[in-house]
Amino acid sequence: AEPEVEDDSEQLEPRPPVVTVMGHVDHGKTSLLDAIRKTDVAAREAGGITQHIGAYQVTVDGHRVTFIDTPGHEAFTALRARGAQVTDIAVIVVAADDGVMPQTLEAIDHARAAGVPIIVAVNKIDRENADPQRVRAELAAKNLTPVEWGGDTEFVDVSAKTGQGLDQLLETIVTLAELSELRANPNAPASGTVIESRLDTGRGPVATLLVQRGTLRLGDPIVAGTQAGRVRAMTDYRGERLKEAGPGTPVEVLGFDGVPEAGDRFRVVESEREARRLAQERAQRLKQEALARQMRRRVSLEDVLARAERGERQLNLIVKADVTGSLEAIVDEIAKLPQDEVTVNVIREGVGGITESDVMLAAASDAVIIGFNVRPVGGAAAAAQREGVEIRTYSVIYQVAEDLKAAMEGLLEPEQVEEVLGVAEVRAIFRASRIGTIAGCYVREGTIRRGARARLVRDGTVVYDGRIASLRRFKDDVREVQAGLECGLTLENFQDVKEGDVIEAYEVREVEKKLA
Ligand code: GDP
Repeated sequence: AEPEVEDDSEQLEPRPPVVTVMGHVDHGKTSLLDAIRKTDVAAREAGGITQHIGAYQVTVDGHRVTFIDTPGHEAFTALRARGAQVTDIAVIVVAADDGVMPQTLEAIDHARAAGVPIIVAVNKIDRENADPQRVRAELAAKNLTPVEWGGDTEFVDVSAKTGQGLDQLLETIVTLAELSELRANPNAPASGTVIESRLDTGRGPVATLLVQRGTLRLGDPIVAGTQAGRVRAMTDYRGERLKEAGPGTPVEVLGFDGVPEAGDRFRVVESEREARRLAQERAQRLKQEALARQMRRRVSLEDVLARAERGERQLNLIVKADVTGSLEAIVDEIAKLPQDEVTVNVIREGVGGITESDVMLAAASDAVIIGFNVRPVGGAAAAAQREGVEIRTYSVIYQVAEDLKAAMEGLLEPEQVEEVLGVAEVRAIFRASRIGTIAGCYVREGTIRRGARARLVRDGTVVYDGRIASLRRFKDDVREVQAGLECGLTLENFQDVKEGDVIEAYEVREVEKKLA
């Protein structure tokens, strides 16, 4: 991410809070967001034609509040996994007739991991079998103790259906926001986060942006992730055209060359040319990172420990186990670990398979997942690969603690880590009677080195793993060839190279798992 600019305190002005609504499925997130939107008189007067742009605002006693209009923690976590922190307050919705459910707890984990204050909306209190006190008791048992019981979590009873309690919920949000003293500098080039995006057949790429700093203006050259452009049109959630938008404001913007991704940071720059340059630079970097990640495969325990060496002395863990008994035993063991060098923090514990939600939480919080007699389920394994999250599975309880302790104390055997040196595309094939098949290559990234280990990838599959036997540039034998240049190479004991193949040169290093 780009370096965040620090503003002087005298440049800062109050800004609206940004609220995300999360909770278990069917507990009423969507209904609540709709009901809150309808409380806004201004929106109703504007004709009430509210379009879905992924976020909206309401005015409460003269204070504006911004709601992210994508219910559920998936969006929240996806944004956070990409480094974007947009939420100031999390409203956790719990249906009063159903009580605390697994996704309620997940939502709480996510809010806590992000350090976002929580307000509990106890919904559906119009229902006959509603039991708001039970919800309070269940959450108090999870360390969310209601203010009225001497704790510090605000609970508000609401009904998305009848509208009961909505005003109180909004007032609670405003009060909490005031305590948080949310401020931003409106007099700066705008920057913020892409909340939603899509390709509209008529209008081209459409992006909902949340301005977080500065003021976005019509005509501004802009870059978001790998996409550049200029703000050609800007509307608010009511579909009204805007000329400018300050901090805390969500706007729908036309004018990007392509579709930026939700979670991408955006910022206004000097010129469209500069925007294009930055977008390209970013695309290049992402490609390299993806490649490196694919080869390295994971954010592993030693990465976490390496960060600890740099002073970030926190090891976040997600622990999943087959039964409550083993889960408790493991968490107890972890709690007993010596924590003078590194603080071990179990950010989620649960019974059952490792889910995609576990992986996304791990990705967002730099956590390692510990599985005891459980395995990844659904899309979890694929997500772990994609996000670079390490999953360690065990079947003996004491080994979990042993392993962590060993890792923390630097007693683990050095581990072999792969690093990509360079990538070359095979563009032509030559056959030489004595040498064999020579691959005429273009080096796309990094450096290709003679003698290096190499893999040959054909249609996404590794078909050879060996070494680069010889390397030539024009007629000369060379030791290495850099990106952007062409070369001819042969692979050890392999003649079946074809045009279109990709050759990855790599090396294997031993990494010491050791703390300073
Ligand atoms: P989500 O999955 O959390 O977004 O939940 P929805 O907003 O889709 O609501 C799930 C169901 O509960 C729908 O049938 C709603 O009509 C109903 N519902 C939501 N809020 C209330 C409420 O306050 N009272 C009653 N009686 N029903 C509600």
